[in-house]
Amino acid sequence: MATQLPSPPRVGMVSLGCPKNLVDSERILTQLRADGYQMSADYSGADVVLVNTCGFLDSAKEESLEAIGEAIAENGRVIVTGCMGKEAEAIRTRFPQVLAITGAHEYEQVVEAVHAAAPASISPYVDLIPDAGLKLTPRHYSYLKISEGCNHRCSFCIIPSLRGDLVSRRPDAILREAEKLVAAGTRELLVISQDTSAYGIDIRREPRMWKGREVVPHMTDLARELGQIAPWVRLHYVYPYPHVDQVIPLMAEGLVLPYLDIPFQHAAPSVLRRMKRPANDAKVLDRIRAWRDICPDIAIRSTFVVGFPGETEADFEYLLDWLGEAQLDRVGAFRFEPVEGATANLLPDHVPDEVKEERYARVMEKTAAISAAKLQRKVGRTLDVIIDAVDAESGGATGRSYADAPEIDGEVQLRDAGHLSLGHIVPVLIEDADDHDLYGVPA
Ligand code: SF4
Repeated sequence: MATQLPSPPRVGMVSLGCPKNLVDSERILTQLRADGYQMSADYSGADVVLVNTCGFLDSAKEESLEAIGEAIAENGRVIVTGCMGKEAEAIRTRFPQVLAITGAHEYEQVVEAVHAAAPASISPYVDLIPDAGLKLTPRHYSYLKISEGCNHRCSFCIIPSLRGDLVSRRPDAILREAEKLVAAGTRELLVISQDTSAYGIDIRREPRMWKGREVVPHMTDLARELGQIAPWVRLHYVYPYPHVDQVIPLMAEGLVLPYLDIPFQHAAPSVLRRMKRPANDAKVLDRIRAWRDICPDIAIRSTFVVGFPGETEADFEYLLDWLGEAQLDRVGAFRFEPVEGATANLLPDHVPDEVKEERYARVMEKTAAISAAKLQRKVGRTLDVIIDAVDAESGGATGRSYADAPEIDGEVQLRDAGHLSLGHIVPVLIEDADDHDLYGVPA
């Protein structure tokens, strides 16, 4: 049985006035789509209706008020934005039931109002951030979304059908947001997207001015700029395209954390082909070796799917051998699940659940042993650790090294650390290790 997904909330839009207003409407809708909303072509299918008003002439104002009245009569849940936001009192007097009123160009406010009126549900099949991450992200680390959507069509994935093709944000807008986050206390930026290495392809790498110089919308250029803004920058969801090699020297220089999250998903060529994975013909093991030559400390995290339709025992053993060679630092594994709408569901030879379970256990055992051996080699070293939690009573603290992204990787447990504060980055002498975590004391 296919896994059913919650249907995303739908937004209706009535856009009035000049082309500038239309561009504002497009921007708002682009952001809402990136946040998981779908559009509704009619009032009846919408969970909330946005009316983007024009107030240029009295006749335009009257037309805007009529549009608000119609939306209220037809749907009832209405948010008003645009030029008439300046006349909130007049609108409220005539339509007290309006949910929120924001002014022209107040994109963030109008998007927030939509979130409040029709919250988007978070799905692990569609969203990049763990459920808790959205609500519990502490001040000292922040996710920075650089694009939405994806140009690939992996057969197990429904993101392109829900979120559409790649839409990259302008580099200057991303850098501005990064500066704001850092000014508000962020020490670690986690760069996310569906495909970070594809960033900028859709906007044809058109440079934008940032602080008097041009910045090209390309992963390497963006990473270099972000490295000058935040103490820690961590790259997620990178695919092993050749140009990824260019970012490794930035890691060796210390501008970006030596950490790459690359969702390989499998290693056996026939499985990768059926998965329709991007860059599946790249000589990945050679590439990893070359990255380690330039930056020996690089931590590589990945995820894998076991029990994909048609995966044979030989395919699975190929994956285990490949993992032995690749010596990845962090690995997450999933048993294949047929998500509603994924084309992989139509493939023949689905793997029985008990075989998936058995393969899952084997891959976890293998990768835990690799992780334990790699962590053991860190004992005796001093590593920078960012502090996530402090227990003043016990004097202990919990933090993460460069090799640990929040929520998904291991931790560093500290003793004699009750004096530290959240978000501090401190040198820690590593005293012990187990399968996934390190133990140490502030140096
Ligand atoms: S790269 Fe593949 S798995 Fe990732 S979002 Fe795109 S289609 Fe989905």
